[in-house]
Amino acid sequence: MTNTFFTLLKNAEVFAPDKLGRKDLLIAGDKIVAIGSQLEAPADYSCQIIDVDGYVAVPGFIDNHVHLIGGGGEGGYATRTPEVQLGDIIRAGVTTVVGCLGTDGTTRHMTALLAKARGLEAEGVTTYIYTGSYEVPTNTITRNVRDDIIIIDKVIGCGEIAISDHRSAQPTKEDIAKLAAECRTGGMLSGKAGILQLHVGDGKNKLSMLFDIMNEGEIPITQFLPTHISRNQALLDDGVRFAALGGTIDITAGGVKRPGKETGLRPSDAVLYCLEKGVPLSRLTMSSDGNGSLPTFNEQGQLVGLEVAQMDALYQDIRELIIGKHLEIKDAIRIITENPAKALKLYPKKGCLQVGGDADIVILDQDMNIAHVLAKGNIMLYEKKQITFGTFEKRNAG
Ligand SMILES: [Zn+2]
Repeated sequence: MTNTFFTLLKNAEVFAPDKLGRKDLLIAGDKIVAIGSQLEAPADYSCQIIDVDGYVAVPGFIDNHVHLIGGGGEGGYATRTPEVQLGDIIRAGVTTVVGCLGTDGTTRHMTALLAKARGLEAEGVTTYIYTGSYEVPTNTITRNVRDDIIIIDKVIGCGEIAISDHRSAQPTKEDIAKLAAECRTGGMLSGKAGILQLHVGDGKNKLSMLFDIMNEGEIPITQFLPTHISRNQALLDDGVRFAALGGTIDITAGGVKRPGKETGLRPSDAVLYCLEKGVPLSRLTMSSDGNGSLPTFNEQGQLVGLEVAQMDALYQDIRELIIGKHLEIKDAIRIITENPAKALKLYPKKGCLQVGGDADIVILDQDMNIAHVLAKGNIMLYEKKQITFGTFEKRNAG
């Protein structure tokens, strides 16, 4: 398997994410240039033809919250989590990733995150970053959040800023409103989303700060993207209220695997709960929190357990919605494609399969497992084997 300028995917069952039926997809360079029946390979050019009969084609996944240079360190230096490698991303079916710092804005730096994002882009996937870390005032590359969004290509918003969490800087609602204002004008002046992504902890205030800001100010609700929203039932109920007002809420994949901490809902159950409560599917996104630390604290706030979040949890939870919970493919897939693409203002270049859009495509086999992954027209994963590698990844990996 080698990468050529033209690739023709034959006989896929296409979910774009709407169901298009059995189609062929022709890719030229990094773009989809035709979707139709019985497409021919272009004459006089070499074209790789891949028959995916019986398989399903969906847009490449968008993971809107990943600790690309690692995160955590909440149990001391030895618990700082490692960097993400290209293989972690593509094996998860992810073709667009948004990086963030996290708890540690002291030994982790925005310039390192920006460099990592640029490196991964050069290795073949699409990357963006949020500027900032948990704290307020937050870490930036230039003098402030607004300037970062306007000046730095990869910065599409600010985050993850921590609220309702014992690890937060205990920001006031004025602090958060000011950051949202910087995001808003920064986004407007640069034509980007200018999203303010908020890490919401287990604290009793939940989303009350956001409701106050909404009641008293002029910032539209779409400027905010609260994440980890299903970490407990009370927070999820606040999330349902937030979504009813027109906001988008982000569920963290892999939710309940924290030892000794079984209060969180399964992500797939959280999705169904939101839908039952009348949340429009278009207002739900999911992210992996990949390479973030998953600490467990006891009642005294002492660290008693630590794991590293895996990016592949993202699609596992979506697959569970399809296979175990019988949500339609077109709906389940939207949560990690079209919905985040729209929230992050990347649509329709990203988050859908359409002519003129980026050739970011995941091919699922009969069991709905990830078989092939194409990112910007390049084959990254083929028959479940990684074929495009990061600079320092071992060629026998995957
Ligand atoms: Zn977080």
